[in-house]
Amino acid sequence: MPDLQAIVDEIHEKLQPRLGEGKVADYIPQLAHVDPKKFGIAIIDVDGQNYKAGDADVPFSIQSVSKVFTLTLALGKHGETTWNRVGREPSGSAFNSIVQLEHEEGKPRNPFINAGAIAVSDLVLAGHTPREAIGEIVRFVRYLADDDTIAIDPEVAKSEHATGYRNFALANFMRSFNKLTHPVEHVLGVYFHHCALAMTCTQLARSGLFLAASGRNPLTGHTVVSRQRARRINALMLTCGHYDGSGDFAYRVGLPGKSGVGGGILAVAPGKASVAVWSPGLNNHGNSLLGSLALEMLAHRTGWSVFGP
Ligand code: GLU
Repeated sequence: MPDLQAIVDEIHEKLQPRLGEGKVADYIPQLAHVDPKKFGIAIIDVDGQNYKAGDADVPFSIQSVSKVFTLTLALGKHGETTWNRVGREPSGSAFNSIVQLEHEEGKPRNPFINAGAIAVSDLVLAGHTPREAIGEIVRFVRYLADDDTIAIDPEVAKSEHATGYRNFALANFMRSFNKLTHPVEHVLGVYFHHCALAMTCTQLARSGLFLAASGRNPLTGHTVVSRQRARRINALMLTCGHYDGSGDFAYRVGLPGKSGVGGGILAVAPGKASVAVWSPGLNNHGNSLLGSLALEMLAHRTGWSVFGP
């Protein structure tokens, strides 16, 4: 194993002069007011060793990174029938695009664009009230991270709701194609709340560790999903995890990853480690600019890649 602490320290140091680059999401005040110079990185390897640098223990809004966890829950509840409701193809369009949804009659391309994650929220709601479904998601993430302090930021959830015109449009559109089974308000209640989960890089890296370790969380010994399902979730993260920037991320980093507009990215080096980075400034695809760069540096220094040794 390479000296991971030395590597994260080096990445942190090299990026110092660039902190603040990129554009912080400003569609809600809670994101607009985040210090653009924050930067954190945390790695947990499959032996449970932890390496971190910068603001790795400062909570931030994980936003769309949460879509990995809701997809995992939906697959657990509905198995392969999940794919009757949402596709598995990269979208090649923006995270909140509505155009494609019309062509494809309300079946979203993949579970990581907004429309797809809204369909997944509908699946997680099955048999629950919105409050129960949100509780189930929080409990699941706490179980994954083995950390009961993880919570939703209610102010972020409220702002997401207040400004969520486009998500309402997407959900109503799907409902018009009979592609949602619950009321739009309920489905979006679940969606806005899981996007509002606040987590640190350390917590996020712990939550993603099962994906790096064939479905089993080595910290707790719990089998979360089968080996095959872990591989498949990783495949979706690789192909769809960065919206229309997924190809570029695969080229530069070579690892499955999922980004969020809060500036977080969860990346998985299968058989090696789970990595979370956070830097609020985004590139023009809505993915963390320095977070992507940090992961590119990490992949380069460790040699980690799903494409070859
Ligand atoms: N809550 C955000 C939205 O639906 C999530 C977007 C993201 O993280 O990419 O607009």
